[in-house]
Amino acid sequence: MIESSRIVRLSGFGGSQSADGYLYRPASVEATADVLALARREGRQVVMRGAGRSYGDASVAGEAVVLDLSRMDAVRSFDATTGVIEVGPGATIETLWRHGLDDGWWPAVVSGTMFPTVAGALAMNIHGKNAFRVGTFGESTLSIDVLKADGSLVTLSRDDPGFTNIVSGAGLLGVVVGAKLQMKKIESGELDVHAVSCGDWDAQFAAFARYEATADYMVTWIDAFASGSSAGRGMFHAGFYRHPPVVDQATLRPSAQDLPDTIMGLVPKSVVWRFLKPLNNRVGMRFVNWAKQTAGAVLEDGKLVGQSLVAFSFLLDYVPGWQRAYAPGGLVQYQSFVPREAAPRVFARQFEMQRERGLENFLSVMKLHRPDPFMFSHGVDGFSLAQDFKVTDANREGLRLLAEAMSDLVLEAGGRFYLAKDSLLRPSDFAASLGQAGVDRYWAAKSAWDPDALFTSSLARRLHLDPRCVS
Ligand SMILES: Cc1cc2nc3c(=O)[nH]c(=O)nc-3n(C[C@H](O)[C@H](O)[C@H](O)COP(=O)(O)OP(=O)(O)OC[C@H]3O[C@@H](n4cnc5c(N)ncnc54)[C@H](O)[C@@H]3O)c2cc1C
Repeated sequence: MIESSRIVRLSGFGGSQSADGYLYRPASVEATADVLALARREGRQVVMRGAGRSYGDASVAGEAVVLDLSRMDAVRSFDATTGVIEVGPGATIETLWRHGLDDGWWPAVVSGTMFPTVAGALAMNIHGKNAFRVGTFGESTLSIDVLKADGSLVTLSRDDPGFTNIVSGAGLLGVVVGAKLQMKKIESGELDVHAVSCGDWDAQFAAFARYEATADYMVTWIDAFASGSSAGRGMFHAGFYRHPPVVDQATLRPSAQDLPDTIMGLVPKSVVWRFLKPLNNRVGMRFVNWAKQTAGAVLEDGKLVGQSLVAFSFLLDYVPGWQRAYAPGGLVQYQSFVPREAAPRVFARQFEMQRERGLENFLSVMKLHRPDPFMFSHGVDGFSLAQDFKVTDANREGLRLLAEAMSDLVLEAGGRFYLAKDSLLRPSDFAASLGQAGVDRYWAAKSAWDPDALFTSSLARRLHLDPRCVS
């Protein structure tokens, strides 16, 4: 029997989407199978949850059993010669880098935060700032262990057709209960990072073109408040692995990578979000974006600096709990992926639409990608632009309409979307981005892996990916 004392309200990272579910946190594969059996018996659907770092409604679902596998966080084996690591589903990206670093291994793909679990990273097939070079998380995964809806356990290698469906499948086909990953060999825990101040959109795309053949990582930040001839201005960074003649062991210690607990040795980072809160409005954020660009242009432009892998990769972990500055309405992130030729036009127009409506995003980050074979792939031969919007009662409807207009542009250009970030897509947007073949592929996989629709999420219900919610 499912006790009512298990009911908890859970939300996505952005804090704007939440739902009540029955929380289960099994510590073994057998106990996980027992939870699935219980849910089936009681006629409840199951939503899977890792660290809850998806921005929207991907790991919540009202009235469902919430299957949280974060306790299954063990490193099951690690080969320091080959860099192959086997972990439980709840091991985090932080677990991976801390485990491999001393022996010169770094996760091949990391997100902008180190807290996601491996299962969550696989379910969304996350990408990093090196997406243009190495692709997505699934592309460095050797095999996964999956518990099917009927409780049977299978191991899928990369050649198995089911592999590219479960990876990226947003937790709608089966439960990932283990994974074998290939880490990346490194000789130093530091990157060489080139900074380029870009005065407009053209300069941004020129910076990507200049470094594409040589850089290991590329990312740019863009000031969404700048207009006219400054539209698209921001700071671009290209990161390069160091290859010293002798392995730089001192930088390969986890202690050498740890982010400081204070800012400038004075302000505890745990309280910084409180200082951000009064600035978290259009006027404040216009100033913050301007100050960031001005400081970057003066202090960083053209410089080459050494930066630890952790500091470069997990910039967003610098200020713990920063999303609380967006309370009470929270934030939504809108990330679209647009083919190369159309990206300058589409992204510039998205910013113009925001300015016309007084709904500028507060943080924009652009990256370069490549296509991949996964079912819910967001990869395109082109660019992504992730944009954070503050949600209030007053702007909620306006944001929805803005997102619809921005999505129309993305779809006209043959672009895609990313479920880990989504809160605002219409069902027709997501279906159109997949194309008919992609839609058919999903329904074939769903009926093969989860014919009774045990697995769901608020996102699946919203985007009509849950057959119980498709009329
Ligand atoms: C600050 C910040 C920065 C980010 N930067 C990036 C970035 O640079 N690149 C990027 O790609 N993403 C990025 N993300 C998004 C994040 O990497 C993904 O949302 C990731 O999926 C979160 O993992 P999680 O463990 O928190 O999973 P959750 O968010 O809890 O769940 C994600 C999905 O995985 C499913 N799931 C969870 N466990 C299992 C399981 N055992 N089996 C099957 N399915 C399961 C859930 O049902 C859900 O659909 C960022 C997020 C934040 C908050």
